[in-house]
Amino acid sequence: MKKINIIIPAYNEEESLPFLYERLTKLINSIENYEFEILFVNDGSKDKTLELIKDYRKKDNRISYVNLSRNFGKEIAMIAGLDYAKGDAVIFMDADLQDSPELLPELIKYWEEGYDDVYAKRRTRDGETFFKKFTSKMYYKLLQKLTNIEIQKDTGDFRLLDKRCVNAIKKLRESQRCSKSIFSWIGYKKKEVLFDREARVAGKTKWNYKKLVDLAIDGITSFTTSPLRISTYISMPTFLTLFIYFIYVIVKSFAINEPIQAFQAIILINLFFFGIIILLIGIIGEYLGRIFNETKNRPLYFVDEYNDTKETNE
Ligand code: UDP
Ligand code: MG
Repeated sequence: MKKINIIIPAYNEEESLPFLYERLTKLINSIENYEFEILFVNDGSKDKTLELIKDYRKKDNRISYVNLSRNFGKEIAMIAGLDYAKGDAVIFMDADLQDSPELLPELIKYWEEGYDDVYAKRRTRDGETFFKKFTSKMYYKLLQKLTNIEIQKDTGDFRLLDKRCVNAIKKLRESQRCSKSIFSWIGYKKKEVLFDREARVAGKTKWNYKKLVDLAIDGITSFTTSPLRISTYISMPTFLTLFIYFIYVIVKSFAINEPIQAFQAIILINLFFFGIIILLIGIIGEYLGRIFNETKNRPLYFVDEYNDTKETNE
């Protein structure tokens, strides 16, 4: 019998978990011929999330959990889940029921047809503000423009991954992770499935715009170095234009013997170049920061407990 791990990162989800447990177990009970393991990754929750998970585990042996030593963020919780998943395939799912469990049979169906990465694409997004929808649309457009690898639009982390995708992703140990770009980067046979993203069942979203902007910058800088090339694109034409202008001014002043009106020109040129330099330093800083973080070469996370056993870090 094939085994499927359902990986659920959870951070302060005590309000959603009862709904999730109820609806998800009901669904997997109805799917025959597969062994399921629901693997919760408790990402340093400060509420009763861990207690709830432990309770479920007592009465249901399909439940496993990894308890991280603190809150590391969803991206890291996801890779921790992959590290502990032993199944033939994994399914990523949010704890707040925004990813409908009812889609699972369809994901599995396409997996059986030979697809390695069956991802759920949002047809609609309930309970999200216009601004969030708009910014995420613009971001996808920008990301796609900057890179040659095809990026799935309106797609989150809700997907089924075959074991070989899991093994591939586990080899990418970068610390500032952007799963969206990683899923695209590894390649393999992908299949899209449409679904209506529901509103969060209970509790509050952990996202705020700062996190979103951080993720967006991580996404771009982890995917492509093309922003670095902006310097080349901007500096070459500006240098050329200014060089021509310089020649023009010199020649003119000699030819008609007119003094150069330098003040305004100098001020404008200064403003222009300082603007570009500040922008470029910022971009270089972004990449420098990434290099700094990667060279530390730290483990991505620490585990406090896996299925009732304390982790000793030996
Ligand atoms: N999450 C996590 N660690 C965090 C923040 C969020 O594991 O630091 C989990 C959260 O419990 C949920 C999923 O990631 O299962 C998505 O989070 P959320 O619903 O807050 O994001 P949104 O759906 O609003 O984008
Ligand atoms: Mg959510």
